Formats: sequence, C-alpha cells, structure tokens
Amino acid sequence: MNTTSEEVLWDRMIREQIEARGIRDPEVTRAMRTIPRSAFVPEGREAAAYDDAPLPIGFGQTISQPYMVALMTELLELTGTERALDVGTGSGYQAAILSQLAASVVSIERIPELAEQARSRLARLGIANVDIIVGDGTLGLNDSAGFDAIVVGAGSPEVPEPLVAQLLPGGRMVIPVGGDHVQTLTLIRRGYNDQVRTTTHGSCVFVPLVGVHGWRA
Ligand code: SAM
Repeated sequence: MNTTSEEVLWDRMIREQIEARGIRDPEVTRAMRTIPRSAFVPEGREAAAYDDAPLPIGFGQTISQPYMVALMTELLELTGTERALDVGTGSGYQAAILSQLAASVVSIERIPELAEQARSRLARLGIANVDIIVGDGTLGLNDSAGFDAIVVGAGSPEVPEPLVAQLLPGGRMVIPVGGDHVQTLTLIRRGYNDQVRTTTHGSCVFVPLVGVHGWRA
C-alpha cells in the first residue's frame, strides 16, 4: 500500500468510524491518528487495516475493530499519568494506543508467539513505555502497585476478581462480559471509598478470555 492511499484510508477510518460514531475525546483520536493500524495486521493484509472490522492475526485471534478500541479507550478517561493494564495483547494495537495516553502500560498475552510479534511491532515504532508479558491476564499482575486503568480485550463470563482487586481507588476497568458469542461492554469504577460501580455500554463480540477466571481452555 502506498503512503497516499494509506493516509486516505486512515483519515476516513477516523472520521467515519470513530468521530461520526460519537468518540469525543480528542486525545483518543490523536492517538489513533498517530499509531498506524497497518503496522499491526499480518503481512499482506495492510490494505484491509483501516476496514471497519476486526481482522485475523493468527492462532484463532483477532485485532479488534478500530471503533471498539476507541470506545474502550475513551471509557478509561486517561489523563497521561496512569499505570495501565492491557489484558490480551493480541496484535499490540490497543497497547500502542494506550502508550500514547498513559504513563506506562503492562500488556499480558497468553500466546507467546503473539506476545513476541507485538513486542517487535512496538519496538519498530519506537514505543518504549509498554511491557509485554506472557501469562494468564485473568490473574492480573501479581505486584503490589495496582492499576489506574485496565482494559480487557477478550470476552469473559464474569469480571475476574483479581482484576477488580488490582484496580486502584479512582481506577477504571473496561471488559466485555457475557457469553462466548456476544458480550456487554462493561465499565467498572472503583471509588475512593472503595465502592465499585458498574455501567454498561452496549453489545460487543470478542474472542474468549481463556484463563483461571475466564473460560476454560
Ligand atoms: N487488543 C488486541 C489488539 O489490539 O490486537 C486484540 C485482542 S484479541 C481480540 C484477544 C487476545 O486475548 C488474544 O490475543 C488472546 O490470545 C488473548 N487472551 C485470551 N485470554 C487471555 C488471558 N487469560 N490472558 C492473556 N491474554 C488472553
């Protein structure tokens, strides 16, 4: 794909899929204008990179639809100071978007080959504030620091308890919750008084979150 046609498709994606559907946070659209989605799709699929759809990335997994990445990111209300957790690295695209909007990002992927490919993509783009770890993201990260923001890029039958526990006071988590075919996009906020408040943001379709607190392998 030549640069001009990429620029045209990329700009159309932002205007028609992101802005026209109500994403209002200018920082989210700025991040999506900065990170080329074409760098996160399999070789030879670059022409489809700005389509209004998820795309296969191998191992039965997908890079999420651009609008869904934008919506989940906007719901996190990032200000640039956060320590963020991305569960389900996949291609690394969501982690790259978060890298532009949070101070640091830990991204967990259960399939080692996808984690390695995502690491190379981020390195090629010079993104240095994302740490990609291989493991079961339903367990979160077992350090004591906690996270201000958590995004889960796979569908879970329930909200994994360890992730709620690792959400700092004031923190936000976005996760698709429901069946293995259709889920409800769910936002969980932990208040400063430790209360947890849940709101829902429409239906979505994600591959399964497989792990101790997700679906069985
Ligand atoms: N956000 C990704 C992106 O930008 O490309 C797309 C995520 S893809 C829809 C879901 C990913 O979650 C897959 O790569 C899958 O292997 C991973 N996954 C599923 N269960 C997981 C778990 N328990 N821990 C970590 N990763 C998991």
